[in-house]
Amino acid sequence: MLEMLKQLTLLNGPCGYEHQVTYFLKEYLEGRVDDVKVDPLGNVIARKKGNKPGPVTLLTAHIDEVGFIIKKIEENGLLRFEKLGGHDDRILPAQQVKLLGKYGEIDGLIGTMSAHFVKFDDPSKVRGHSKLYIDIGATSKSDVEELGIEIGTTVTWGTEWKLIGPSKNQMVMAKSLDDRAGCAVLLQVLEELQNESFAGELVFLFAVQEEVGLRGAKTAIQKLDVDAAIAIDTTAVSDTPEETMDQSLALGHGTGIKVMDFSLIVHKTIKNLLVDTAKTNGISYQLEIFPGIGTDGGAVSFAGGGIPTGVLSIPSRYAHSPVEMVSVKDLMDTKNLLKAFILRLDNETSFAF
Ligand SMILES: [Zn+2]
Repeated sequence: MLEMLKQLTLLNGPCGYEHQVTYFLKEYLEGRVDDVKVDPLGNVIARKKGNKPGPVTLLTAHIDEVGFIIKKIEENGLLRFEKLGGHDDRILPAQQVKLLGKYGEIDGLIGTMSAHFVKFDDPSKVRGHSKLYIDIGATSKSDVEELGIEIGTTVTWGTEWKLIGPSKNQMVMAKSLDDRAGCAVLLQVLEELQNESFAGELVFLFAVQEEVGLRGAKTAIQKLDVDAAIAIDTTAVSDTPEETMDQSLALGHGTGIKVMDFSLIVHKTIKNLLVDTAKTNGISYQLEIFPGIGTDGGAVSFAGGGIPTGVLSIPSRYAHSPVEMVSVKDLMDTKNLLKAFILRLDNETSFAF
């Protein structure tokens, strides 16, 4: 699973420009599922039939990542940008970025004042993103255009994958773990189910544009007819020393079974089934109540006549930054719980309220 996660985080898919991820997944899934297609928005939808009767279960994770989009090229070659998804302006200066240009990827950075100037500035001042600029080493507008950068070019973080920490308890540090970690969990579950007997049918939805308002899932679900759904996404832990942290969710303490966030009060029957499955199988879990986050679980649950939906959250530090962090153990717990949940479903399973 880690090798797949590494590959996925090295792909670039800012909101609306998920093409690299979409077509990587389509190619990977062909031959491993009964049917796979890309819908008009770029969502990847795959179906895998079990060998006995049972419910149709949607499993979803999003494939987009937070990024930026170029909105103006200055005469001196510096680039102004707008945000794609939620960013903290305080962490933007001096970060390395990658621009998805017409002729390929271009390295750059978000500019920052040299430290020598700080004594002439207000040290507590935070410059909003509209005051900042991306520098790609070009000194004129025409240089920028020659490199294949134009208004509308999208930008992602320029950081790469690392495994850190003691070998018995490693952490992944990378960009876009939100939500390539969820995608990797779904692919690993699919892999492990290849030779297993399971009931019903699994519908995999790898959704675009989650970070700008659950747009891909909202659209795709309109054409899907399922009995229940599980969304897999990262969630922000609260185990670091900042005063806003309430220490209710910690890295490495097991998969998060969501109870509530701002997009969803999780369907009690599904939540209880997940908790029971975790207990029965000895899988570490934490119950998550965090109104600071929403997921595609919210979009899916309220579609059609309503779909009982649960969410498994992969605990994450530093979400939406270039150095997001998840624990390998939590990833495994999430994968193990999702797999055990699928294996317990049968014709008798009730998702009734
Ligand atoms: Zn996410």
